[in-house]
Amino acid sequence: MHDVIVIGGGPAGSVISYILANKGFNVLLLEKYGKNRYKSCAGGVSTVSMITLEELKLRIPEEVIEAEIYNARIIHKTKELTLTTGKLGGYCVYRSKFDQWLRDSAECAGAEVKHECPAYEVKIYKDCVEVKHRGGMSKGKILVGAFGALGILQFYKQLGIKEKPKFSLAVQREFILPDEDMETIADTLELYFGSDITTKGYFWIFPKTKSNGASVGLIENIPEPRMTERLDKIISKHPVASKRLARAKPINISGVHLSGQIVACSPINKPYGDRFILIGEAAGLVEGFAWEGMSTAIRSAVIVPKF
Ligand SMILES: Cc1cc2nc3c(=O)[nH]c(=O)nc-3n(C[C@H](O)[C@H](O)[C@H](O)COP(=O)(O)OP(=O)(O)OC[C@H]3O[C@@H](n4cnc5c(N)ncnc54)[C@H](O)[C@@H]3O)c2cc1C
Repeated sequence: MHDVIVIGGGPAGSVISYILANKGFNVLLLEKYGKNRYKSCAGGVSTVSMITLEELKLRIPEEVIEAEIYNARIIHKTKELTLTTGKLGGYCVYRSKFDQWLRDSAECAGAEVKHECPAYEVKIYKDCVEVKHRGGMSKGKILVGAFGALGILQFYKQLGIKEKPKFSLAVQREFILPDEDMETIADTLELYFGSDITTKGYFWIFPKTKSNGASVGLIENIPEPRMTERLDKIISKHPVASKRLARAKPINISGVHLSGQIVACSPINKPYGDRFILIGEAAGLVEGFAWEGMSTAIRSAVIVPKF
């Protein structure tokens, strides 16, 4: 019998496992995919995430940081506005490495971390919870659902959650750029807005400077058809983006070049019940302007154990 079973080894599930294991609880963390799994994400880590992690004595290792961000550039058609405070405003990471570091930190704190271990079914009883997963079944006193947007669709009925969050849809490609093209975006997040691009979303180029990489994507707050086609049209035709990416070459990160994923972007009213609670994106906790979800995932992982 575990004290806590956590489903999902993203930032929310890994950080709560780390905190609870450090407090001496017996924690089982189940992650569906293998080590260094790809996660569709632009990888922008805000100062809120950085500060929260540092408060937990989790300093992001140098080898995980791909870029230090000092500027944000807003682009509309051919007009560009660069905003800067002159201070470090965040990092860019590849989630494969960042999340693996968080899962390893949870393991070092004493959590039992199982990779390639998808949870199939959850049952909530009066005195315990049961999770069926690859390789068997585990019992615990409490269940934490940190399974992200796709997990909600899998588990909301089993947990008796009445309301699903709203979903946005994002697509992303990973590229590598020549040195001279990296210079313009090396420490800058580029956000492209305008009706020529999206109806209610934005297009981005987020740098992975150390690897000469760039994550390039498009999000819409109402899932729209032909997102990949639209992404590719922006990459090849937008007056600014097409110049930035003219010599970009597709690369695979943890085996993935093109990804698409729903993003849960409205908080669920009651993300808890007897013996379970949802945190992070599983609870719909994604900020509604830039769809930033890592800081809310990490903050929710910090707040919940306080209760
Ligand atoms: C294209 C794109 C770009 C984004 N860019 C940014 C950005 O730059 N900055 C930012 O802050 N946010 C960004 N987001 C949002 C951010 O990725 C998420 O909000 C954040 O990852 C949520 O963290 P989480 O731990 O709650 O869930 P997730 O990171 O989704 O982690 C959930 C984990 O649960 C696992 N899982 C799911 N089902 C099961 C199961 N049945 N059994 C076991 N494990 C399971 C998954 O494999 C995954 O590892 C982006 C999202 C997308 C789609």
